[in-house]
Amino acid sequence: MILKASSYLFNHTLKKTVIIRKKFKNIMHKQDAIYLDQFCPKIKNKNWRESINKLTKCKCIYCGKPSESLDHLHPMSKGGISSTSNCVPCCLSCNGKKSDSEVLSWYRKQNFYDPRRAMAIRAWQNDDLKLASVLLNYLN
Ligand SMILES: [Zn+2]
Repeated sequence: MILKASSYLFNHTLKKTVIIRKKFKNIMHKQDAIYLDQFCPKIKNKNWRESINKLTKCKCIYCGKPSESLDHLHPMSKGGISSTSNCVPCCLSCNGKKSDSEVLSWYRKQNFYDPRRAMAIRAWQNDDLKLASVLLNYLN
């Protein structure tokens, strides 16, 4: 008798779960889904960095060496923010040398200056990441 009761309870619960799942699936839209990175700022930041690095194929936007950091085109010390259009992948050497200089005037003075990269940097600053990515991938 006890066994029958627990079996009934199990089956009843299982049926209910299936019904709830079906109903949930019908009302749930993809855009309503909550992803793990929305709860975890560390994952969100990591995904953001990876998406930025993907645009340059993990290369420094200034010299083309492997990127090791993100540089603020408009320096944080001068009010620059950590937004996608203001952060570019770059190597530690370029990041250190550029410091808080204005990006294009600093870049023009470098011996690895390339006008096509300068165009990509300008496109990036104007939030045209697609054009910047095309220009950079053409170089790499
Ligand atoms: Zn570099």
